[in-house]
Amino acid sequence: MTSPSTKIQLKKDISRVIRCMDFISENFLRDEKVVKKKLEMYYDIYQSLATAWEFYGLQCKHWDGFKRVRDGKQACRICGKIKGTDDSFYLLPAQGEKTIGKRTVPTNSRKVFPTKKEATITYDSINFHGAELKVDVHNMYKSTLWRGGHEITIAAQRGVTLAERGVEYSVDDHLIKVELKKREKGQKPPYGHFPWELRKKELHHFPVIFEFDDKLNFYGLTIFHGKDKRKSRRPERRLKKA
Ligand SMILES: [Zn+2]
Repeated sequence: MTSPSTKIQLKKDISRVIRCMDFISENFLRDEKVVKKKLEMYYDIYQSLATAWEFYGLQCKHWDGFKRVRDGKQACRICGKIKGTDDSFYLLPAQGEKTIGKRTVPTNSRKVFPTKKEATITYDSINFHGAELKVDVHNMYKSTLWRGGHEITIAAQRGVTLAERGVEYSVDDHLIKVELKKREKGQKPPYGHFPWELRKKELHHFPVIFEFDDKLNFYGLTIFHGKDKRKSRRPERRLKKA
């Protein structure tokens, strides 16, 4: 919620910035006698003011409605923003929860788009205090496995990936994947097996703890990511004791 005093202050700030922009524009930018070097400087001032105006505009909730401007468009009476245009910046609170965008999911249609670009609904990323977060939401699209080769249809899905300390955690509609090591170029793909397909001797190499209750409901798993071998063997000892 914006308090009335903040609203009044914001209105004042916005109109002051707009007045300054108009002043620079009318007195210097349109004056043909201004020498090129000075013109560049005035242009820079104008750009800085425009940036300030844009940031003030993000706080404006367009309380006083819109007025008609040219080309049948409507502009906010306070900040001058054209109705229906996207903001090019996000304004986030320094304290508390930050929200960017809404949760998107693939549209429930059977349409197969010719390219990923056309099928994309959300493709965005953020570096949040050193952690990389990516959201990739798309509809079905055509793709080729090898250059010019076999054509396949990529299923519609919502995928979210978090990267931290060289580990990638990704969740999509079918899988929860944790990638500890990136495959080198030309290296063969890693093996993939369910635990019951492996021998106990092989299982000892993997520092994974399965979490479950008395009825064998699966709650999740913990992976120890110690760098030396001794650390990675700790969980297996704990399992033996149990
Ligand atoms: Zn506004």
